Amino acid sequence: MTTTTPTTTPTGVRAGRRVSALICAVAVGAATACTPSEGAVAPSQVAAVAPASPGAGASKGTTGAPGIGDPDFPGDGNGGYDVQHYDLRLSYDPSSRKLAGSATIEAKAAQDLTSFDLDLHGLTVSRVTVDGGAASFSRSQDELVIQPGRRISNGDRFAVTIDYSGVPEPMRDSANLGEYGFISTADGAFVTCEPNGAKTWFPSNDHPSDKATYDFQITVPEGLTAIANGEMAGTPQTKGGKTTFVWREKHPMASYLATMTTGKFQVRTGTSDKGLPIYVAVADSFRGSLDQLLTQTGKITDYWSTVFGPYPFSSTGGVIDDYAAGYALENQTKPIYGGFSPEPDIIAHELAHQWFGDSLSIGRWRDLWLNEGFATYAEWLWAEHTGQYTADSAFRRYYANAGDAMWAYPPGAARADDLFSAAVYTRGAMTLHALRREIGDDKFFPLIRAWTDAHRYGNVTTQEFIALAERVSGKNLKGLFDAWLFQPKRPAPIT
Ligand SMILES: [Zn+2]
Repeated sequence: MTTTTPTTTPTGVRAGRRVSALICAVAVGAATACTPSEGAVAPSQVAAVAPASPGAGASKGTTGAPGIGDPDFPGDGNGGYDVQHYDLRLSYDPSSRKLAGSATIEAKAAQDLTSFDLDLHGLTVSRVTVDGGAASFSRSQDELVIQPGRRISNGDRFAVTIDYSGVPEPMRDSANLGEYGFISTADGAFVTCEPNGAKTWFPSNDHPSDKATYDFQITVPEGLTAIANGEMAGTPQTKGGKTTFVWREKHPMASYLATMTTGKFQVRTGTSDKGLPIYVAVADSFRGSLDQLLTQTGKITDYWSTVFGPYPFSSTGGVIDDYAAGYALENQTKPIYGGFSPEPDIIAHELAHQWFGDSLSIGRWRDLWLNEGFATYAEWLWAEHTGQYTADSAFRRYYANAGDAMWAYPPGAARADDLFSAAVYTRGAMTLHALRREIGDDKFFPLIRAWTDAHRYGNVTTQEFIALAERVSGKNLKGLFDAWLFQPKRPAPIT
């Protein structure tokens, strides 16, 4: 995720995007959500906590846990099973703002289950079946509790289908993040779900530690376009004034990266120089940006595949909606830009996330620097590649500001109440630069490629990155990572 609005530190210095003046130049009227923020914080202690993982939530007997085990987001996700696939059949009418859905979730039990939860925010559930048999269910806040008609045994695969409808309500002010999730717009919907807004439009195990593949079948009034992840299957079919779009994401995806952005869009498809299919769509008011978005997206995706390793998905793309969110989100295969035409460095950030965040997903939110530190460092690498400035100069400019609030915020432990802090972005990127200086380019870039290769489509932790960096470099790097990621003060200068 990136914001287009600069933030201000207590000392009055622009933070977060000082070097990338182009990003700051974008005028955004609306209040921004998910803005990297800076604020003096109490030092947080780094606890040795195991990452969340499917089925890892504490269970009671045969009751699946209501959380997946993320220490900072205890209600997110669920325990007792591992989702393999979501089949989402959705119909949305912008005039009534009503969404009707039938979600079939294929999962594998990680314990014996007589009851398990899904995450769902609002909406009315009319029917639940498990393996075709009627199941009872109840609601408690954002938990949908399901009792299948029979006990599910540990290791069994099962399919749960939920029929539901209603007017989706986005998440508001959860974890100081503004508005996110399913946001209705004049002509459709702007759907960006980080960190836990997927539950605003489909029942899910809404945590990045349980990734799954997706099929989408989305029906909207004729004349509108519905955009989801992956590739379109067949051509959209129109019948009775409604058009149905079928999309398929065949690679594992975290729930917060799923989208069903809908509206009046100009669409263009193409192929990158390396042969990767590209799909871009822009709201009518951004039609002048369509060609540039297509060209830059192909060019930057191709370039990153030479730096980070093979592109992990089957297509690339981007969407510019006219909803003035003021931020961009790295929706898998199709980053979305909320109400602005992105400069190349923002596209570079969001496309870098296809490796760091989308292919390699964090297992708990406090490791968010593995997404945002890498994507911010990618902006510096892009600037270096295009001759604007070097990563080293960016690092030194940030380092020179001894009073920056990011020194009080250890980015290796992103805080639930200030998750998208500028420290996670900038100090996270600086961590990578300090590492690069310490081990040299001839070890640093092979390390990055080894990282994306070893954990492709999986979940990752900071400790795994540190271990790999030590293995690739042959150096003890614990002191470097401790100073840059875990101490609430400015590290010693690098050489
Ligand atoms: Zn980002």
